Amino acid sequence: MNIPFVDLKAQYNSIKVEIDEAIKEVIQNTAFIGGPWVKKFENEFAEYSKVKYCISCANGTDAIQIMLKALNIGSGDEVIVPANSFIASSESVTAVGAKVVFCDVDKTDNIDVTLLESKITNKTKALLAVHLYGKPADLDSIKEITDRHNIVLLEDAAQAHGAQYKSKTIGTIGQAASFSFYPGKNLGCYGDGGAIITNDDALAVKLKMWSNHGRIEKYNHEFEAFNSRLDGIQAAILSAKLPHLDNWIEKRRNVAAEYTRELKETGDIILPEDSDNIKTVYHLFVIKTAERNKLKLFLKEKGISTGIHYPIGLPFLKAYNYLGHNISDFPVTAKNQDIILSLPIFPEMTSGQIDYVIDCIKSFYN
Ligand SMILES: *Cc1c(COP(=O)(O)O)cnc(C)c1O
Repeated sequence: MNIPFVDLKAQYNSIKVEIDEAIKEVIQNTAFIGGPWVKKFENEFAEYSKVKYCISCANGTDAIQIMLKALNIGSGDEVIVPANSFIASSESVTAVGAKVVFCDVDKTDNIDVTLLESKITNKTKALLAVHLYGKPADLDSIKEITDRHNIVLLEDAAQAHGAQYKSKTIGTIGQAASFSFYPGKNLGCYGDGGAIITNDDALAVKLKMWSNHGRIEKYNHEFEAFNSRLDGIQAAILSAKLPHLDNWIEKRRNVAAEYTRELKETGDIILPEDSDNIKTVYHLFVIKTAERNKLKLFLKEKGISTGIHYPIGLPFLKAYNYLGHNISDFPVTAKNQDIILSLPIFPEMTSGQIDYVIDCIKSFYN
């Protein structure tokens, strides 16, 4: 049996009529940039997230940059970012001229709150909490610290659409939160897309301007900014997919529950932690095992695709050689990069596919 890591085709087939109709409508109305479909999706995603504003943009990386720019964060400022994430989380900080300050993660795979205060200096302006793998970071504890030090809390929710922290939708505890609609994300379009949500009236205006040439009205540019817009076709696709998101999340959570139940006592596997006060949306299901490389190869031979997120922790990438870090600076991230393995997980996974993955993993350890 061949098990892909994600199956975007299966998802398209399940909603083909809605998607095809949505795309056709945008083309027939030539609403390619801006226009009613973009506005409609922004309203829908704001409502889904229970926030006042959603500002769409071109991708999730731009979304982070736009948040930082709109908050006036740049040269001379420092932004704290977890050591394990996708490079977009830290790259955006550098792109606006600020300095990246990495903080190690803990066994939840998110930023280690106990280390946070040691990373704060008088230059620290913001902390970007990443809800890695779709699991909310410990926002109350983080916010207590950022509030006390007068630092802005931002959320990188690129992997966590629809996740909840203490019954609150992700993205509503920080001052603003960024999302990616890259095709493989939990809510993905058919190209690049991104958005920022916030409840802050003044910030919302700035976010909008930063994503659209520093203007509110056509040709009245108040400052130089970016061209980072969601296009009409992608917005229409996202509107067609959004009503399915909660159902897809439940399906991901069911796959995760099945993996958890069956792999609990298998070999040396450490399963992802869950807790009662969060709702994890399992963008990825990441196990830890000392036999990672052998298991990955074994599963590949059985036709099962797996991933590693991420094989090199951010501070250890060549891109960050200039910071001069070594593995003892971020011991958890350093250890994780050798033991983490992301199993296939997607809403359309059949019970036959799930069972096959479980059986193969069990047979590896027996
Ligand atoms: C995907 C991702 C991004 C970037 O999103 P793009 O739309 O690809 O630019 C940022 N942060 C995290 C954690 C991501 O997983």
